Amino acid sequence: MPTETGYDPSLGNKFVFVTGGVMSGLGKGITAASLGRLLKEAGFDVTAVKIDPYLNVDAGTMNPYQHGEVYVLKDGAEVDLDLGNYERFLGEDMTADHNVTTGKVYQHVIERERAGDYLGKTVQIIPHITDDIKRRVREAAEGTDVCIVEVGGTIGDIEGMPFLEALRQFAHEEDESDILFTHVTLVPYSKNGEQKTKPTQHSVKELRSIGLQPDVVVGRCPNHLDPETKRKIALFCDVPTDAVFSNPDVEDIYHVPLTVEEEGLDDYVLEALSLSDRACPPEERADGWRERVTRDTDGEVDIALVGKYALEDAYISIHEALKHAGIERGVDVNVLWVDADEMGTDHEERLHRADGIVVPGGFGSRGTEGKIGAIRYARLNGIPFLGLCLGFQMAVVEFARNVLDLDGAHSAEVDDSTPHPVIDLLPEQDGLDDMGGTMRLGAHETEIEPETLAAEIYGDTTCVERHRHRYEVNPEYIDDLEGGGMTFSGQAGRRMEILELDDHPFFVGTQFHPEFRSRPTRASPPFVGFLDAVLSRTETPREVEI
Ligand code: GLN
Repeated sequence: MPTETGYDPSLGNKFVFVTGGVMSGLGKGITAASLGRLLKEAGFDVTAVKIDPYLNVDAGTMNPYQHGEVYVLKDGAEVDLDLGNYERFLGEDMTADHNVTTGKVYQHVIERERAGDYLGKTVQIIPHITDDIKRRVREAAEGTDVCIVEVGGTIGDIEGMPFLEALRQFAHEEDESDILFTHVTLVPYSKNGEQKTKPTQHSVKELRSIGLQPDVVVGRCPNHLDPETKRKIALFCDVPTDAVFSNPDVEDIYHVPLTVEEEGLDDYVLEALSLSDRACPPEERADGWRERVTRDTDGEVDIALVGKYALEDAYISIHEALKHAGIERGVDVNVLWVDADEMGTDHEERLHRADGIVVPGGFGSRGTEGKIGAIRYARLNGIPFLGLCLGFQMAVVEFARNVLDLDGAHSAEVDDSTPHPVIDLLPEQDGLDDMGGTMRLGAHETEIEPETLAAEIYGDTTCVERHRHRYEVNPEYIDDLEGGGMTFSGQAGRRMEILELDDHPFFVGTQFHPEFRSRPTRASPPFVGFLDAVLSRTETPREVEI
């Protein structure tokens, strides 16, 4: 019996496994998410699993410089940023179970071994680790029609081997029409402008040497693959020519579903998975998506992002959320990178040029004084400001120092001997020294005060947004801060969640991270509110320097 969402359990799950060849950073995740979007557009319930073959249990302790942003799911899981792409492309919320890491699998198997669950057997990679991997993939797919399973890294990585072995076994355990292997690979150009297939041939050879035969090959190349290139790949990789697809560079990642649809990838995959009969006709697919992501824009704005990691991936969800607000309002949003540690240089110049200022989340002390300076500049010059998590906290610090004259006010995270710890540890964090998974994480509800800017932004009296923090507004300072003119328009019990200033066109901070719930099809309210303020700002004199 089909369920309300159309999922028919009697038909079982279909799995699309996505591997990557030649090198990382090819956009394998975007390709996989784009295919997922198209299958959704064809009328199926689609979910995704990202396999990360590293030993970390989760991404929570990972450095954004190496791995980009730590993405937070509604259940509080701290996961690889690719999960953010899946949520944005599929429009579905995921949970911790959708990010499988080597660390998670081994931790579980070793715990079971210690508990005696294996009844004295020798515990081995095959079958115990591979069984656990298969179990996790099957469980994450439950209740959906198609599960896209992306294996992180590149074929040939030692760490990926147990996962690929698990997928090989998987293929034996399921009907042929329930499994599809897709290999995303690089097709570079030679100096004389020829598309070269040798790297693809080698990576498929490597795949086949471990018992995996791709059903579909997707070539990442600056341009479309030439028919001759496709024929060559087909011949050497033992796939039909019409199973080789181009995935050329596009200027906007949200156009990838449209380019691979033009190539016919969705139809091929639906056919291979015996889903064509149940799919809605091609002409009805992706229209809503196309309308949204190819909207004409009128005008552009410059937004300064004042952070400490000079790497776009470290703030990817903020970049995307700004873009989604831009889609909503039909304007192009340019993000100007401002390094909070580089005030007094061209970074400060960019800050002064910006139409709006965003101060993102972060940890530790580096760059905090620069952020506080940027916030002061936004406050005194009436520049629209959005502070996110650490940005919210630094707005409280700036206000305490410069409006309430609390000299040396700070967050206890940055200065543990401050005379005015206006931002302090969450009570439940006191005395904790294990840095893995000790934060206030995930979706929590905020009560919004009626007739405030926050109420206008959300059009509601509550909001549910995702959190990732250890520190918060110190309750002892709330009366002073409110007395001085700062309104905490969003609260969760005694926790301050949203702040705003009355005598400013748009000065808003959120203790949570609204960027994690923003989608191309549903922009985040604080980002839209911020952009509206940017668009309606009339030039105000900017007198105060940092
Ligand atoms: N470091 C701050 C805290 O732990 C802010 C965290 C963040 O910006 N995500 O509370």
